[in-house]
Amino acid sequence: MRYIEGKITLITGASSGIGAAVARVFAEAGCPVVLAARRKDRLDQLAAEIAAAGGEALAIQCDVTDEAAVEHLFAKTLERFARLDILINNAGIADHTPTTELSLARWQEVVDVNLTAAFLCAREAMRIMKRQQGGRMLHIGSLSAQVPRPNTAAYAATKFALAGLNHSLAIDGRADGIASSIYHPGIVGTELVRVEGQRDPHASIGGETTARAILAMCDVPDHVNFLEGTMLPIGMPFLGRG
Ligand code: NDP
Repeated sequence: MRYIEGKITLITGASSGIGAAVARVFAEAGCPVVLAARRKDRLDQLAAEIAAAGGEALAIQCDVTDEAAVEHLFAKTLERFARLDILINNAGIADHTPTTELSLARWQEVVDVNLTAAFLCAREAMRIMKRQQGGRMLHIGSLSAQVPRPNTAAYAATKFALAGLNHSLAIDGRADGIASSIYHPGIVGTELVRVEGQRDPHASIGGETTARAILAMCDVPDHVNFLEGTMLPIGMPFLGRG
């Protein structure tokens, strides 16, 4: 039995990588999907692909760091579907600047996309879900929210903060039946991960596997919250000292 079928799902950062994979997998599972990102041509292409496969998709151009644009995104979603069941807070950027070289402007940019935008989208979703007395959000964290790499001060700080935001949202949503969860993937192998040369496929999880794990976290009864998930390639040197 699928609990998720028919759930209206909004995905930020749906123009590539994990977000696009999530859109395909949720649409295949019977969810009408709202696709949000800045690159509208990519969203339109994905929406057409989903429609051709028998699914339903609405593409909305949105810079998630822009408060008015986020409000517009959720208003358009309501206009089309009259409700919102699931928010996938996925949009994000990576940064590998050594701390001593990290400008305030770049720090702010990473915070704006990875953290402030997640808050703005969660706030809009929670306003709708509160009225509905139910809903679910899932944020894409990172292994960096647990064990950062060198030269990722801004990225790691935002991902740790996202875990805190998730915890707070789960508490704040409790009385209204709103679940909030976080999924921490290891290397997925998207445009965000700069890869030189051929990569061993076993060194990354893959977009579809990641999307199916996210679907599983959301495909639970409405009163259940799959609070946290971590997924990594077996060979990744993440757990303990080698
Ligand atoms: P991609 O670079 O492939 O996708 C990032 C997405 O975010 C794009 O669709 C981009 O769309 C969107 N985005 C970025 N800035 C904005 C903005 N201002 N407004 C709207 N959308 C924006 O990367 P991934 O798919 O890999 O990353 C997705 C999430 O997964 C991120 O949060 C990342 O931190 C996390 N993650 C990824 C890992 C990996 O190995 N790939 C590992 C751990 C976590 P557009 O440019 O069109 O606006």
